[in-house]
Amino acid sequence: MPRIGPYTLYTIETGRFRLDGGAMFGIVPKPLWQRRIAPDERNRIPLHMRCLLLEDDGRLILIDNGVGDKYDAKFQDIFAIDHDEHTLHASLNDAGFSPDDVTDVILTHLHFDHAGGSTTRQGDRLVPAFPNATYHVQHTHLDWARQPNEREKASFLSENIEPLVASGQINRIDGAGAVFPGIEVMLVNGHTEAQQMVKITGPEGTLVFVADLLPTSHHLRAPWIMAYDVRPLVTLQEKKAFLDEALAGGWHLFFEHDPDVPLASLEQTERGIAAANPRPLDELF
Ligand SMILES: [Zn+2]
Repeated sequence: MPRIGPYTLYTIETGRFRLDGGAMFGIVPKPLWQRRIAPDERNRIPLHMRCLLLEDDGRLILIDNGVGDKYDAKFQDIFAIDHDEHTLHASLNDAGFSPDDVTDVILTHLHFDHAGGSTTRQGDRLVPAFPNATYHVQHTHLDWARQPNEREKASFLSENIEPLVASGQINRIDGAGAVFPGIEVMLVNGHTEAQQMVKITGPEGTLVFVADLLPTSHHLRAPWIMAYDVRPLVTLQEKKAFLDEALAGGWHLFFEHDPDVPLASLEQTERGIAAANPRPLDELF
């Protein structure tokens, strides 16, 4: 397993799902995007819910946790939720851990495909799925998600959020900066209010969990912006600024939703900054 500073890194594949291809690529015409990711007969494209686990001497830190296991048949059908190959629990188990071992969960944001694994059913109650963990959420994002606008409302499910508030397990983070040694959060506001990306830095190099600023490697192109984003022109600026900094710093990017590319480096090409050396996390350095 690769290491950065004191942390051993594990990929935690939590399952697959599908979203409308048009919504995933915004204004990009279908003839362009369907060459890169082929849609199914309902115009949906395959996506992963790929999380990251960091282990050091005292902590086990999970970044996002997929869609969870609370959905009904209609929800499963709409989003083609597929846990045949991977589940959060099985992937944690493969890495040698159980949910009880997780000490910290960093939630990039509270959309259901990122935070749905945060809670689970226990009889007729909803409880935190990681009973010993602190859940780290941006303060302004938590407020935003609990009073959702009508356009984003379907992505913020109270069943994923309120049990965490009720249990007192949320740590509200105010702004960007260090959360643990070598781990900092970076804020972006285009996709949703105060999404936090996670940057892990050590002597070996830097890895950034880019979440929904860059859901797939195809979104590296400037105008390839999801229609889901609440402020697409802010995403455009944030993406350009981030990619300039990431290229200059030689940062590696971890893609949560890319069906084929878990990790890539960056290179400058005549058509802009592009993914280089796509590879699994095991080949990070
Ligand atoms: Zn999102």
